[in-house]
Amino acid sequence: MMNTRRIDNDASLLPQICNGHQLNHCKTVSCIHFGSTDPQHYVLQRNNPNKPMLVCKECGAFPPIINNHDVVEEALRLKQQQSSGMPACSNPDCENLGLPVLTHRHLYHAFGFSGDRQRYRCKCCQATFVDRWSGFNSKNLIQQKLLAMLFTGYPVRDICRRLNMNPKSFYDQLSHIASRCRRQLAMFDARLVKHVPQLALASDISELQPNSGNGVLWVASSEAESGYVLAQDINYQPDEHEECSEWHDPYSNGARFMAPPPVQLVEAPNTMPQGLLAHIDAVYRQIMARPNFEDPLSSKPRLNYPSKGCLIRPQYTVYAHYMHLQQMLEQNEELAIYMPQETLLRSACISIFCDRIKDKTIHPIYVETDPEWQHGQHAGRIDIVLMGWWRDRWAFTRKNDISKGICHLGGEKDNEGKWLEVATHRTITQYQQRFQDQFAQFINEPRRKLRPGGLLPLLDIYRAWHNLCRQDRDGITPAQQMGLIATPLTLEQLLS
Ligand SMILES: [Zn+2]
Ligand SMILES: [Zn+2]
Repeated sequence: MMNTRRIDNDASLLPQICNGHQLNHCKTVSCIHFGSTDPQHYVLQRNNPNKPMLVCKECGAFPPIINNHDVVEEALRLKQQQSSGMPACSNPDCENLGLPVLTHRHLYHAFGFSGDRQRYRCKCCQATFVDRWSGFNSKNLIQQKLLAMLFTGYPVRDICRRLNMNPKSFYDQLSHIASRCRRQLAMFDARLVKHVPQLALASDISELQPNSGNGVLWVASSEAESGYVLAQDINYQPDEHEECSEWHDPYSNGARFMAPPPVQLVEAPNTMPQGLLAHIDAVYRQIMARPNFEDPLSSKPRLNYPSKGCLIRPQYTVYAHYMHLQQMLEQNEELAIYMPQETLLRSACISIFCDRIKDKTIHPIYVETDPEWQHGQHAGRIDIVLMGWWRDRWAFTRKNDISKGICHLGGEKDNEGKWLEVATHRTITQYQQRFQDQFAQFINEPRRKLRPGGLLPLLDIYRAWHNLCRQDRDGITPAQQMGLIATPLTLEQLLS
């Protein structure tokens, strides 16, 4: 279908601003128009009506266009997902709607008990509600058994047989456990962001079910050293959405909802060259070859679109992921974010934190190493290489022919030695890898490939278990390393 919209005045050059967010701007940090939302600084090219392009008049960069309203809506969806099932005012006319008691105590009064469950009253509208996850958990024992078997790789049908339950009650229990886990996490997350004015995060993005080709991507961020996972999101919602489109039209609200894309001809990727520098160069080429370089799915020859629910264009989930983090980290003073070389992570990060890039209170950093690199070594000789279309300034060092490279995406030029030593995204990369290994059986069940919704509760449970229960070689959990709690939680404690 031809797109007949005409855009010929400055006012409509950039998609409409939403809640103060205009994420369309030049993303070349060294350009004088970096972050500018003045339409005069750009020209819109519409050679291909399905792929409008914004070009910076100064540096010639052409950042893909994104719908601001859809990013804000997506951030709201991610937030609601995280607080789903938590006690909060549910009066649709009340301004406290959906704000959980656990993280917004000042908005509610404790208001007696219902049985042994805590009751609350909303200070704003006086409505009362019960915290259904407080008080004694009569299912604790069976839930512990269920989790223990799931974590040791039993198939769902075996767990059901051994615990004498049908699949429906298995999934009901799983979602109850997930609610309890989200409740526990909310308290620790709030403590973490409050107590750490200087924070280093590690981000990564990977396929949720690598063998399925279903287009569900999983973006996650953890504290870089301890591995405490602060946020993780996927570009899939279990609810259907009425209007989805094959083509991305960033000038229409609802642009994030993706219809099953047509099969397309894509050149087979060349084999990855050896050597870190050549590898990074090849990744730049692959990314530039994407029809939309902020959308990793745009270069897939075909997708096995989920049979239920709806895919979200990944750039919206990733921008929203950082928007949610930005809201959580309002009190943060200095932030580093380490990430693998992926333009989507870079663009989302520097757009959302644009003001902080200008203030130099944030350090977004690409980190790539040879697999054998030992973390924490001092950098020896440092070589600077400008790479990719963006002329990104990479710093490389090597020890015994094993290399590490970093690139400060905020434009800082005098601290390469420090970043080469400390920057790493290994904690989050390993977290995602362990999930794939631990739950291979569950993730790869044939019917689950087109039904990723069943994995949503498992993701919350896994994050809680990883942060609060899982001990490293020294017997320490990520929550302990962050000073949030003195001992590991047992499964029993996690579920109570
Ligand atoms: Zn520019
Ligand atoms: Zn209320």
